[in-house]
Amino acid sequence: MIVIHNNLIPLGKARTINFFGVLFTKNKNLTPKTENHEAIHTRQQIEWLILYATALLVLIPACGLSWRWLCTVPICYHVVLYCTLWALEWLLPPYDTAYRDIALERECYDNQADQMYLKRRKWFAWVKYLFKRPVR
Ligand SMILES: [Zn+2]
Repeated sequence: MIVIHNNLIPLGKARTINFFGVLFTKNKNLTPKTENHEAIHTRQQIEWLILYATALLVLIPACGLSWRWLCTVPICYHVVLYCTLWALEWLLPPYDTAYRDIALERECYDNQADQMYLKRRKWFAWVKYLFKRPVR
């Protein structure tokens, strides 16, 4: 993972953002928990990238779409998946914790303290969190 410490990215109140293993952070230091949290996100992003690119490689010739759709691959995780799941969480109760309730975040928060999690994690483990609502 490449870590870039800065005061600009991410914008707003967020402290850290991860683009396929390149981590932008406003924090001076990263805790092992935070590093593990972000490593889990990197794995999720790689999985989604493979799924999305494969779908495009099938759909583009099958549906006669423009190959320019491949330009969307680098932003696919954050825009297509993450924002879609976040929007869904805004529509589902509890309404005040949409960010924390995203399936991708729940997998990270539930397992960030377990430094061995990524070694035994199954592919697309975040999918089970889509169907498991948070318990409060
Ligand atoms: Zn996160």
